[in-house]
Amino acid sequence: MRFDVVVVGGGSTGASIAYHLVKQGAGKVALVEKDYVGWGQTGRSTAVVRLHYSTPEVASMALASWRVLKNMEKEVGGPSGFTACGFLLLAGEEELQGLERNVAMLKKVGVETRIIAADEVREVEPRIDTTGLAAAAYEPESGYADPVATAQTYARAAAADGCVLMEACEVVSVRMEGRRIERLITSRGEFEADLVVNATGVWCNTFLEKVGEELPVKVMKEEIVVWSRPETFRGQHPVVGDLPNNYYMRPFGETQTYMGSINPDMNRQEKHPTAFNLNEKVGLDTASMYGEAVSKRFPAMAEARIAGGWVGLYDVTPDWHPIVDFSAQVENLFNVVGLSGHGFKLCPALGMLTADILLKRRKPLINPDFFSRERFERRRLIGMSYKYGVIS
Ligand SMILES: Cc1cc2nc3c(=O)[nH]c(=O)nc-3n(C[C@H](O)[C@H](O)[C@H](O)COP(=O)(O)OP(=O)(O)OC[C@H]3O[C@@H](n4cnc5c(N)ncnc54)[C@H](O)[C@@H]3O)c2cc1C
Repeated sequence: MRFDVVVVGGGSTGASIAYHLVKQGAGKVALVEKDYVGWGQTGRSTAVVRLHYSTPEVASMALASWRVLKNMEKEVGGPSGFTACGFLLLAGEEELQGLERNVAMLKKVGVETRIIAADEVREVEPRIDTTGLAAAAYEPESGYADPVATAQTYARAAAADGCVLMEACEVVSVRMEGRRIERLITSRGEFEADLVVNATGVWCNTFLEKVGEELPVKVMKEEIVVWSRPETFRGQHPVVGDLPNNYYMRPFGETQTYMGSINPDMNRQEKHPTAFNLNEKVGLDTASMYGEAVSKRFPAMAEARIAGGWVGLYDVTPDWHPIVDFSAQVENLFNVVGLSGHGFKLCPALGMLTADILLKRRKPLINPDFFSRERFERRRLIGMSYKYGVIS
């Protein structure tokens, strides 16, 4: 089979890219996924959808994405599971300047956000202990979504518009012709491709080994604990990013909460995802560390019980921002990888940006050089207002 574009990787990134390519008339497009759409790190995501970022470029991408995620049925024709429970980013004195700078910039971009003091934080979420809090940034219309439903909505909509969706289809090797990929050899046959998009997330360098390339993307372990909240802490609560205490949390239904770390130093980093055991159970040490941190802010959580958890992997670049760029060595290979643990919420905009760059039919949402791979060589890293990589 011959395709104009083959997108490798059916996570939220690849599915959105396939959808936007087909929508913009890219010709014959295939989405190739070794398992099923949403199986990868998308399926392990806590899927927080916030707009707080440190640069206007990424904030614009988050805003464009949020607009789609909250209207997914109308925009794309299926669910995203978006729930607007609000987002509170809590800052101590150390983070206050960055918080104020970001909120001023975000307002200019058009994000609905404001700085609130401790008493208003308690109005938004009365169960919170605001001791030591300098201020918070509040986004009333942010929240979380369902990452697998979102990826599958994109894949189904792409397929309805003519994309060939190949699940249980692994790219095992490539055949090169000079500096171009001539065909992909997969577990379901050989595909000729004019253009290949690598959206394989934490597996990106495993994929790139096939063409002799490597990107500065490390793989980092992230553990999520699921808490059963006590009776005194039931119902929804906002998504909380607690900078001084190094964690974030989001509700899961009326009685449970997902919690993860925002500490960039906490985890081991490796080049290959195979260095980690994805079936590993969340450690009791991690759960007790998380429990201690969250109980400082939400005293009721001292009575919470562990209901489970899982291990996921981040594909992390040196500045915790994606690479959206052509390969240095292979003329017809485009990489959209290195989403650094915050890429679910950006998936609509990543799809739009990729289609805009590749097809050149519309002005890209942001400067196409912003996520270039060369920024690492030129040492022009994307700036961040905080030291917490994932809250970048
Ligand atoms: C624990 C955790 C929590 C997170 N929380 C958030 C959050 O709150 N908010 C947020 O915005 N983001 C979050 N993220 C990040 C976010 O989930 C990801 O950045 C996002 O889902 C994008 O994933 P992807 O499509 O790039 O990769 P993936 O979903 O991993 O997709 C890549 C796909 O490529 C496939 N693949 C790999 N190699 C091949 C091959 N050779 N042939 C065919 N297919 C192949 C894999 O099977 C996989 O399905 C979190 C991530 C984790 C792990």
